[in-house]
Amino acid sequence: MNSSLHHRLSPSLQVALAKRQRETGQSIEEIVEAALGQYLEVDEETIFQTSTISALVEGVNKGDLTVGELVTHGNFGLGTFDDLDGEMVLLDGEVLQLKSDGQAYAVAESAKTPFATVTFWEADRTVVLNQPLDYSQLQAYLDTLLPSDNIFYAIKVEGSFEFVKTRSVARQVEQTRLIDATAQQPVFEFHQVQGTLVGFWTPTYMQTVNVPGYHFHFLTQDRRQGGHLLDCRIGQVTIGIDDTPQMRMALPNTSDFLAADLSKDTREELHQSEK
Ligand SMILES: [Zn+2]
Repeated sequence: MNSSLHHRLSPSLQVALAKRQRETGQSIEEIVEAALGQYLEVDEETIFQTSTISALVEGVNKGDLTVGELVTHGNFGLGTFDDLDGEMVLLDGEVLQLKSDGQAYAVAESAKTPFATVTFWEADRTVVLNQPLDYSQLQAYLDTLLPSDNIFYAIKVEGSFEFVKTRSVARQVEQTRLIDATAQQPVFEFHQVQGTLVGFWTPTYMQTVNVPGYHFHFLTQDRRQGGHLLDCRIGQVTIGIDDTPQMRMALPNTSDFLAADLSKDTREELHQSEK
């Protein structure tokens, strides 16, 4: 089916659409998509993820889900690749591998992931913000846009950044614990850069399943560089929030995952590895 549509809107709809566009900074396509999605109830509002963050902490660094399969569950998200070979960002359906040189690489559909979280992006709320907030101030501001601490949110922050600091994990030999893999992480700094933060907010009660709180990966606008976000200072950005109250998990059917001891409390190791 052809996805383009030509339709003459009524004058009152045109006025309402222009007003919404001014208020939110969204494109007409985004507003129409969101409105149709709500009317037809097709937005699944579902987070899909493979494996658990505690398995990654424990060094289960090989998965059985291919990137080709992953993108059938979403067009927006983040994760990593087998052997922790860099950071994954999924934006507008395109998967990029941000390797330990800080550069973005195209990914084969056959590449596998030991941990990834994706959704079909559909902003429920959009805000234009023009304040030079640092990362902790940005998180405090984002807190005000999340109506509950008890569901997942996909979050996109797109625009200009005064400063961004990222890391990318280097490819590991088998079974390296996350904390050891991130101990030597290459760190990158960007100044006065255009780009996008792609990420999620995860409830605290899910802390063995996914990274609790905010977790972002950064991609420059030219899609050539980026990494796991450590710090930033925003310029003018558009923030989108996608409420995602449903979750689907696909656990790896691998001997490493099935044999791993996932009963331990990995909170401290995870915090040191990801923040
Ligand atoms: Zn990350």
